[in-house]
Amino acid sequence: METDTATIEVANTSAFADLGLPEFILKAVADAGYTQPTPIQEQAIPQLLEGKDIIGGAQTGTGKTAAFALPIIARLHKHGKTRALIMEPTRELAQQVYDALQVFAKHTNLRTALLYGGVRYGKQREQIQRGADIIVATPGRLLDFLGQRLLKLDSIETLVLDEADRMLDMGFMPDVRKIIGFTPRKRQSLLFSATVPPAIDSLSQWMLHEPVTIRIGSGTSTADTITHSIYPVDDRQKFDLLVAILDQTDYDSALIFTRTKHGADTIARWLEHRGHNIGILHSDRTQKERERAMADFRSGKSRLLVATDIVARGIDISGISHVINYDIPQHPEDYVHRIGRTGRANRDGEAVTLYTAGEQDFLRGIERFIGQKIPHSKLEDFDYNWTPVLEANSADKPKRRNRSPISSRGRKGRR
Ligand code: AMP
Repeated sequence: METDTATIEVANTSAFADLGLPEFILKAVADAGYTQPTPIQEQAIPQLLEGKDIIGGAQTGTGKTAAFALPIIARLHKHGKTRALIMEPTRELAQQVYDALQVFAKHTNLRTALLYGGVRYGKQREQIQRGADIIVATPGRLLDFLGQRLLKLDSIETLVLDEADRMLDMGFMPDVRKIIGFTPRKRQSLLFSATVPPAIDSLSQWMLHEPVTIRIGSGTSTADTITHSIYPVDDRQKFDLLVAILDQTDYDSALIFTRTKHGADTIARWLEHRGHNIGILHSDRTQKERERAMADFRSGKSRLLVATDIVARGIDISGISHVINYDIPQHPEDYVHRIGRTGRANRDGEAVTLYTAGEQDFLRGIERFIGQKIPHSKLEDFDYNWTPVLEANSADKPKRRNRSPISSRGRKGRR
């Protein structure tokens, strides 16, 4: 049986109190059920309380949010001017950080504004006008407010740029640089990025002052609580194989990734047709639809969520037992981000990737990036069409033929 407790990696036994956090934070942390800081919290919190700049290589799932949020709240303590700005690449991440701030700041009178695009300005404008100590925002909407002179950033003391590599991929860097230009030169700056390509390196040199580097795991690492498997299949049988995998797997909840929005819609429609309750998440869905899909998935109302890479980074949905790559990710980093949605906080997770002819280079790229070969698998009782990738498979793993790698924990009895 899988344990339900959120046991998270603990490097040693020092508790939150030893990190120098004030009582009102310790109370909130205890209310949240955290007993021990995670490694990144242990390393970052004392440095941030001292006002140091940080460049952090930790991914989401490591406790990164609390690592930066707790010292910010501790330092702000009481309601005043807008003194902290946290930039996030997606609305979902911004919402998640905002929610975490509400929990951690519950014993203070600090106010937070959440600003992202795709929704009306009214409520967000009100939040700004009421006076927000902390702003959590995506770059586009934040720049809108700055352009309209509805918001000033000249009292910012702490600036957090989260998921900077994702910002870069999404083309936000010019906006991010402009926004940073609105903040005072003398400030505390934090930059988090799973990978550090040259553009992020130059940004960090520009925005950070004598930063402390914190790396938790490497940017290419995957949790060792995750079982990986590759399912070679003929292109025309992908959907049938997906259905068979779902039928034979005892998943709590599964996140299914497709390459395109259209692909996500199609798979979702087909699965729905087969009686599954499905959520869909991609950037053409309205904000309301996205929120609903996340809420239903979180609550367990829908146990399957079909998504494009928009949610691959950062979204913290606990208890995802399976990540299924319906389409193999074309960028190796996306593989790491996608499967990072499972196996979180030391729970077991399974990452299943469908693999068709012509995708060999992508697979090799992923294996090189994560530094391990992913075992090939065949599903029992599935009537495979011949495809060259199946041949390659049998040479690799003769013993595993006709055996599903879905672990004994994850398999239903034979039917
Ligand atoms: P994050 O990396 O910030 O997305 O956090 C991942 C998950 O770990 C979230 O569900 C947090 O609530 C949880 N978490 C963060 N810090 C701790 C901690 N010290 N103890 C237990 N759970 C934690």
